Amino acid sequence: MSLTAERVQHDNPFQIAQQQLDKAAARLQLDPAIHQALREPMRELHVTIPVKMDDGSVRVFKGFRVQYNDARGPNKGGIRFHPDETIDTVRALAAWMTWKTAVVDIPLGGGKGGVICDPKKMSPAELERLSRGYIRALGRFIGPDRDIPAPDVYTTPQIMAWMMDEYSVITGHNTPGVITGKPLSVGGSEGRGDATARGGAYTVREAAKYLNIDLTKATLAIQGFGNAGQYAATLFQDLLGCKVVAVSDSRGGIYLPDGADAHDLVRYKLTNGSLEGYPGSQPISNEALLELDVDVLAPSALEDVVTERNAENIRAKIVAELANGPTNPQADDILYRRGVFVIPDFLCNAGGVTVSYFEWVQNETGYYWEEQLVHERLDKKMTTAFASVLDMSLEYQTDMRTAAYMVAIQRVAEAMRARGWV
Ligand code: NAD
Repeated sequence: MSLTAERVQHDNPFQIAQQQLDKAAARLQLDPAIHQALREPMRELHVTIPVKMDDGSVRVFKGFRVQYNDARGPNKGGIRFHPDETIDTVRALAAWMTWKTAVVDIPLGGGKGGVICDPKKMSPAELERLSRGYIRALGRFIGPDRDIPAPDVYTTPQIMAWMMDEYSVITGHNTPGVITGKPLSVGGSEGRGDATARGGAYTVREAAKYLNIDLTKATLAIQGFGNAGQYAATLFQDLLGCKVVAVSDSRGGIYLPDGADAHDLVRYKLTNGSLEGYPGSQPISNEALLELDVDVLAPSALEDVVTERNAENIRAKIVAELANGPTNPQADDILYRRGVFVIPDFLCNAGGVTVSYFEWVQNETGYYWEEQLVHERLDKKMTTAFASVLDMSLEYQTDMRTAAYMVAIQRVAEAMRARGWV
């Protein structure tokens, strides 16, 4: 099942994003003008991209770029290539990027892009022409001081390199800072590959300190075994001491009563293409995995998997949302009432954009950092962000997601006021 096929059967993601904003705005007694401005994107571009296919025909693709809010700095956010992409998904993700950059306090706004296409059915040459065509269509709508895209679902460092190159052709000079998530050879940053899961690990460490959970004795279940899920397995094991007892991908999951070495699980998945048949494992459905009695549950695949239908059955102590939007608002209320500690998506998975920010800084200054420095600076950003959100949640006696929204909205609102927009 594709990421989006699951999603479209459920709520509209942009309406969920607006609902979450409304809840936090009410708690903050936010100025109604600021609230209204933050409920909609500031700007969006719809583009049509003709692409010459390998067989000589021309196919016309549709794409979007949403710039949600740039009060705190240039917009920042990934580009998805997906057959079921919709403008509402892109809007929701652009909103979440605005809160994400604000919650980790980096001087950037929020944006997102998408092209409706099926990259699995396209050749590398067709993908290159589509990537370059998308950038030509966006033209000077983007740029290192305006809007800085990055990879997301089904877009890769190679695609980022083509896009950066096309933009440099348009401007007539080398412009690595227009795109992040590039290969190292063209201005990528050390430490970008595992940054999302690594940032998530730092927030889980901080949550466990607060909750008095000994992570060296903790069990871990992960839904989704791609970039976020695989690195979560190895880093939560290596950095925190957690034992991986269940993992899943789109084909189903495995339960490992005695645990398994995370590196071995990743090797197995990469060699066999699936987790099925891993020695010592029992099959488990994606739904049952979510309800396992574990200390840490890391949804790392889809939106809308923890809902009012299963929230009463979630037994994890900590839910570390590496995926975007895995928990719906109804489930949030249930989890909070039941004392399940949720590290909300735009805090938990902000490590990726934080290291993207580091990449942009390195591109703009032309001075490149060692991996260790990237890790140290990421740790500091994530730890500080976690503390601000926890303080807010304790002060207002509210759940961590609402608290994260409150921290982020306050920061964006302050920038809007300082600029004199409201
Ligand atoms: P990916 O494409 O590398 O991996 C997705 C994984 O989800 C795959 O293992 C796939 O098999 C699995 N999956 C798909 N359908 C599933 C289903 N029905 N049940 C269980 N598993 C299923 O994507 P990714 O980069 O790891 O992103 C995963 C999530 O993390 C997304 O929500 C993404 O927005 C979010 N995220 C990723 C990053 C990043 O840097 N990669 C940053 C922030 C947020």
